[in-house]
Amino acid sequence: MSDYTQMWSDLGLDLAGHDALLSVLGGAYQDIFLSQKNRPEGMEYFDFVMSEVHGLRIKELMEARDQGRIVVGSYCVFVPEELVLAVDGISVGLCAGAEFNFEGAEEVVPRNLCPLIKSAFGFKRGLVCPYLEASDIVVGENTCDGKKKSYEILAPMVNDLYVVDLPQMKSDSGKKLLREEYRAFMAKLEDKSARQITLDSLKKGIAVTNAKRQAVKRLAELRKADPAPISGLDALLVNQIFFYDDPVRFTASVNALCDELEERVKKGEGVFPKGTPRLVISGCPMAVPNWKVPFIVESSGAVIVGEESCVGERGTRWLTAGDGTSVEELLDAITERYFNIDCAVFTPNPSRLQHIEEMFGSYNARGIVHYSLQFCHPYIVESGPVENDLEGSGIPVLRLETDYSQEDTGQIKTRVEAFLERIHKE
Ligand code: SF4
Ligand code: SF4
Repeated sequence: MSDYTQMWSDLGLDLAGHDALLSVLGGAYQDIFLSQKNRPEGMEYFDFVMSEVHGLRIKELMEARDQGRIVVGSYCVFVPEELVLAVDGISVGLCAGAEFNFEGAEEVVPRNLCPLIKSAFGFKRGLVCPYLEASDIVVGENTCDGKKKSYEILAPMVNDLYVVDLPQMKSDSGKKLLREEYRAFMAKLEDKSARQITLDSLKKGIAVTNAKRQAVKRLAELRKADPAPISGLDALLVNQIFFYDDPVRFTASVNALCDELEERVKKGEGVFPKGTPRLVISGCPMAVPNWKVPFIVESSGAVIVGEESCVGERGTRWLTAGDGTSVEELLDAITERYFNIDCAVFTPNPSRLQHIEEMFGSYNARGIVHYSLQFCHPYIVESGPVENDLEGSGIPVLRLETDYSQEDTGQIKTRVEAFLERIHKE
């Protein structure tokens, strides 16, 4: 890793803090991922990506910038990668999943804020995230109140913060607003990159993004087998790397992994024995290195077979129609695609509940773990009605609310074990 010290220094990172972060990340990765049994060989690529997540990948971003390409960092799946690729830009996810420098974060944002937002500020103020420091534009969005107001505080700390206004209701006027916002975002990207979005460049952006989504959808299909051919932890990792890696290389690597998993399914091989209780996890996104709950679940005798999450199916289940014959038609298609996303910031939000029910059935699950980050009002408020509805339909639900600390690990494990006992009895 020391080969990269000059690069991190050029990016303005705090080298001591950055070392500390990498050491925590490396230790957790070793304990959680590399200790798993029966991992598919195709995971070696993703292990390599993780080992180079602050190294080789950042070097690639810096080389791309030297060639005149822009890096666009974002915090939400409402930011269309298709548009970034259409100006030959590189899209990177900036969501942070570690309790790092919360003291520094709490000097500028309230303590009672969701850990995902606090982590983003902890990373920024500690100068430890090379993706954030390498971003030419940081894209925010008006989703939850916490993020919306936090961008006002983040703006003076980053290169160029651009906020997309998002609708809160699935109405005609909401869709119109989204289209106008995407049109303005296109103009911003064109201006920043000094490149024009053309029919061809946008079609290419759509094709690359769709291929990436199709690969993770293929992975999701394979997880329907019993025994599950891959752990929920490894599948989550693939879904997390979705936001960082080169999209074409990522797509090829996921497809190679799926080829191997197909063979496993044919032979009836899996990571856990056939009949292991299968759970779907639903709720807030899990950004790297937030692996706490999946690790607890999978070390308690269950397997996670699907994620109803933005780092999961909520972020990837829709494709963008790429057959339009003008940039305007393609922009319509992009708007249609993203307007489907059933984030809890929308009111009402019935399609999310419907999707959880569908996932429960199609993955042959035995229960749902509803996962909320502390102080995330949209998902915590929605979790009550979601639990009532699902339980009313005979679907067992375990409702968890947690943060990024390890303090509640024992308590969560006890609750997960009690939930599994309940499932075994039903
Ligand atoms: S949960 Fe909502 S706000 Fe968060 S990434 Fe997903 S769509 Fe964006
Ligand atoms: S987890 Fe909830 S509170 Fe946190 S950023 Fe996402 S929607 Fe907002």
